[in-house]
Amino acid sequence: RFITLEGGEGTGKSTLLTALREKLEAAGRSVVQTREPGGTDLAETIRNLVLHPPGDQTWSSMAEALLMNAARTDHLEKKIRPALDAGQWVLCDRFADSTRVYQSVQSGVGPAILTMLENAVLGETRPDLTLVLDAPVEQAARRRAERGGTADAFELRDKTFHEAVRQAFLDIAHNEPDRCVLLDASRTAEEVSEHAWQEIEVRLGV
Ligand code: C5P
Repeated sequence: RFITLEGGEGTGKSTLLTALREKLEAAGRSVVQTREPGGTDLAETIRNLVLHPPGDQTWSSMAEALLMNAARTDHLEKKIRPALDAGQWVLCDRFADSTRVYQSVQSGVGPAILTMLENAVLGETRPDLTLVLDAPVEQAARRRAERGGTADAFELRDKTFHEAVRQAFLDIAHNEPDRCVLLDASRTAEEVSEHAWQEIEVRLGV
């Protein structure tokens, strides 16, 4: 089974992922926890290149889209598909929906090109379930600040950008209800993981 977690920064994806891995393992499942961009040595190298371009340089949205898809190809080939073939559960922090959102918002790459790339890269490997975490931008910003660490190029963007990201994830969740579950991430971590776990039990069986 293949589960992806999506949503803006500061919505609690990593916390939820760890909670779900523990619950699945307690239920006797073998779990691979991974993330995008990244997940393999080469894809992590691409992640670093995209998130921290050398000097004061920036990538265009098209270049970003291609790099994200190159990283995803390596991740699928070397980690995700082998794990799924072996009967493991794969939990992935961000996946193709993040590319649909981040590489398209604010006059980025058009949907036709993103869809073409997504289909070419994913093929038959689609998430069985996508948990979309949604929280008000102000609350997510507070959580990001509390988490600390160094702000990367993406996190330095403004409120309009984060609002657009939030709306784009909401649109995906509404348009694909068979695959996606919208989780209200303004609740406590326990409440969110309890809701997510119920959905996993009902939709995928554990
Ligand atoms: O999930 P995490 O917050 O670690 O993601 C790192 C950053 O990469 C995010 O801030 C997000 O803005 C960016 N990103 C992106 N396009 C993707 C995936 C992530 O711009 N496809």
